[in-house]
Amino acid sequence: MIDKTTTDTRPDTLPAAQRAIPDKENQSTGAARLIDCAGCRECLKDCPLNLQIPKLMDLYNEYLEGAAVENLSDVYKSLTNDTGKAGDCAGCRVCEGSCKNHVEIADTVHKLSALFD
Ligand code: SF4
Ligand code: SF4
Repeated sequence: MIDKTTTDTRPDTLPAAQRAIPDKENQSTGAARLIDCAGCRECLKDCPLNLQIPKLMDLYNEYLEGAAVENLSDVYKSLTNDTGKAGDCAGCRVCEGSCKNHVEIADTVHKLSALFD
């Protein structure tokens, strides 16, 4: 028997316009799940690009909380001035091996690239 009180009624697919912008559908409804970064910096030591991962996770959380991309782009530029860009992330996931909070760092970095690079 199906318990209708717990049935997930979200659509299986989203319109292309919503899929094009990372998590935009969640941002617009205020239902976004924030990145659970504790700022411990354990992931920093292993990234070959020296990406400022915790600050980038904070930046993505600001986006999820409703900040406009154009208002965040200067912060993104300042965070990547002396490092690689988010788009340079090779997806090696070495950083994720150091993260006790199991943050999906590489996927989030790729979403940042789609927004800001
Ligand atoms: S997955 Fe990307 S962010 Fe993580 S260590 Fe590799 S290059 Fe750096
Ligand atoms: S290791 Fe995880 S929790 Fe710690 S700063 Fe990096 S992403 Fe955040």
